[in-house]
Amino acid sequence: MPDMSIPPVTPQDFGAEILRHLKHSLGKDESHAALYDWRMSLSLALRDRVVDPWFESTRKTYEARGKRVYYLSMEFLIGRLIEDVAINLGMEEVAQAALAELGQDYAKIVADEPDAALGNGGLGRLAACFMDSLSTLGIPAYGYGIRYEHGLFEQHFENGAQMETAETWLAQRHAWEFERPEVSYPIHFGGHVDEAEGSPVWHPEETVMASAYDTPVIGWQGRWANTLRLWSAKPITAFDLASFNRGDYMAASAPEALARTISRVLYPDDTTKTGKELRLKQEYFFTSASIQDLLRRFLSEGGDLAELADHVAIQLNDTHPAIAGPELVRLLMDEHGLDVARAISTARRCLAYTNHTLLPEALERWPEELFQSILPRHHRIIQLIEAAHLADSGSAVRIIEHGEVKMGELAFVMAHKVNGVSALHSDLVKETVFADLNRDYPGRIINQTNGITPRRWLYSCNPPLRALINETIGTAWPDDLQQLEGLSAHAGDAAFLDRFQAAKDANKARLADWLKARDGVVLDPAAMFDVQIKRIHEYKRQLMNLLETIALWNEIRENPNGDWTPRVKIFGGKAAPGYVVAKEIIHLINDTAKLINADPATRDLLQIVYPENYNVSMAEILIPAADLSEQISTAGKEASGTGNMKFALNGAPTIGTLDGANVEIRECVGAENFFLFGLTAAEVTARRAEPNYARRAVEASPRLARVLKQIESGVFSPSDKGRYSGLIQGLLDHDYFLVTCDFDSYFEAQRRVDTVFADQAAWTRMAALNTARVGWFSSDRTITGYARDIWTASSLIASRSSRKDVA
Ligand SMILES: *Cc1c(COP(=O)(O)O)cnc(C)c1O
Repeated sequence: MPDMSIPPVTPQDFGAEILRHLKHSLGKDESHAALYDWRMSLSLALRDRVVDPWFESTRKTYEARGKRVYYLSMEFLIGRLIEDVAINLGMEEVAQAALAELGQDYAKIVADEPDAALGNGGLGRLAACFMDSLSTLGIPAYGYGIRYEHGLFEQHFENGAQMETAETWLAQRHAWEFERPEVSYPIHFGGHVDEAEGSPVWHPEETVMASAYDTPVIGWQGRWANTLRLWSAKPITAFDLASFNRGDYMAASAPEALARTISRVLYPDDTTKTGKELRLKQEYFFTSASIQDLLRRFLSEGGDLAELADHVAIQLNDTHPAIAGPELVRLLMDEHGLDVARAISTARRCLAYTNHTLLPEALERWPEELFQSILPRHHRIIQLIEAAHLADSGSAVRIIEHGEVKMGELAFVMAHKVNGVSALHSDLVKETVFADLNRDYPGRIINQTNGITPRRWLYSCNPPLRALINETIGTAWPDDLQQLEGLSAHAGDAAFLDRFQAAKDANKARLADWLKARDGVVLDPAAMFDVQIKRIHEYKRQLMNLLETIALWNEIRENPNGDWTPRVKIFGGKAAPGYVVAKEIIHLINDTAKLINADPATRDLLQIVYPENYNVSMAEILIPAADLSEQISTAGKEASGTGNMKFALNGAPTIGTLDGANVEIRECVGAENFFLFGLTAAEVTARRAEPNYARRAVEASPRLARVLKQIESGVFSPSDKGRYSGLIQGLLDHDYFLVTCDFDSYFEAQRRVDTVFADQAAWTRMAALNTARVGWFSSDRTITGYARDIWTASSLIASRSSRKDVA
């Protein structure tokens, strides 16, 4: 039952609300309205219905005087919002009917919305799922981030190579945000620190304003709404009139341009440390604004700073906001007069840090000189934090070392809890990156396995499966996903499995239609849809998938009358613009696709497709249509993965390694419903110590040797035969991610996939059991864990069981 705060509405009345916005907010007449006008009017009419529950949530939070959670994240990979909001408000059908009566196509309007792509991949998408769950669970929370003018770049292929263009989601008005010009804070950079009356004083050189934009985030059934507050950089003086009057128009706009640079673009890479001054400024910019904002809120409610940690929980999504520690200490000391020890202990009780990677190249470190020049006061405070840490814990781990400020160590030392994002990853965090700190602070590192919101990643993106689940186990599962277990009882029921397969087939047909309309590509919906979509990275091993594809092509050509299972290999994903090897892999996939797709001997059995510009909206079409989920990273490298959870939930069994959350997914779905292959994390480490392991693996595998030779000799790049010789030589010389070592095991696992897929009933049963058994991977479960183990934050809405009593 929706909350009383959302009055039910008829399609006629809602249509009138849309028309009111068309006229009064868009200034358009029905007869002249373009698709954009209809989309904005629909969005604003939906947004109106979010405002009351939003106010109500704020009021309850204020009254409860409890704890608020502040989720600081450099990235929020949100995607579209119309469908999401309509579904959470229980208004999907009303909106569809209202637009139909107005002669408009709801689906077309929904598809017109640009993705809010303020993130790179998993880390940013996790933050978006967490916001959804925080609202669904009724936990008072703010998400804090940056309102990038340009989100993640758009990807195009030119002759198979990736090209990037600027993304422009704000070229049109963003319907969901409320601008808050009155909420703004000065953010200082540079200058120097001196002493006045025995206290340090920071004399900054540059100041910009952080200005707030709020987007309400509505939870399931509209019971609660939190705020996503994104900061935009503005100049303190908009415009240099003196320069303008002199006729120097460039100089006149310089202050504005300089300030705005800070929130101009999302860094297109979260997997390498980008030692760029602008990036450090971005990090400090949004972190400082957020800390100032939460302190103001606390103090305006009459809070006593000694009790700050009873009211404030700050979660750092990776080290990007790790400057929150020193910033909070700075404000407590310099503006509120706490002594160092009290400031540090207060800050630590508020702060917690989530580690997302073990890849050494992704751990943030700043050259001390650069850091000191931009944040001189914080540099000194970090020295104080380090001294206290060394003295109190007896630790030998430095925060500043070899001329670098180490953000991971800083975040760790300033956090009362540090968490990894899957069971395996958390163990490796304890054993590797933070082994010493784990000894110095036993119990600080804990695990919170990632999750995904079932509202977007099943209910919204997979209407056929949603309907089948509703009919089979009722409608209470979207905020209690473990109820999907009830589907298991039907896994032996042929009629149920037929319907499960029919849902999958409908999604495959939808994907085929979409791809035909978008790219003119024709798919065979009877073929297996074998999908690998994620950022392109060597550790994720798209290359191994492609090598297997070529090996399969070779074998089909040799034995064209064999009993082959037709496959479509679907790739999707962007490479960081500066990541040369990843871009070579993209080029090779496209080159290979061109040749193989044109081969009349294999055309009906093997096809490669790689649609451009993978994003959240594309994931919502591809994942429900997938038969097979590729989760094939080198063991020990993928912290968790969340794509793996989305596929399993939508009934696509995994072919995968024992990496990240794959381990836990396999435990849930059962080993017999998961195609396991490859070295374990421990075996990977051992193998790397063996001399020449890659060349030896290739020598032992004629199948692999042949494929590598084909690529190297230019079979797939006839116009530029040497194009991939560097890539292949690299594989032979230093195959750090063990593509060669896992290849045979992967190829064999794929042939097991073929065999099971050929037995339609067995496959569908396996797929249905995947859906039934992955309810644990709801981000509601993850957030419940954070609230219990890290934040000690409570829900302010009635628990699910008591709601049921009422209903
Ligand atoms: C879920 C998701 C990711 C993360 O995928 P992984 O397979 O876990 O790397 C990245 N990008 C988008 C658009 C997603 O929806």
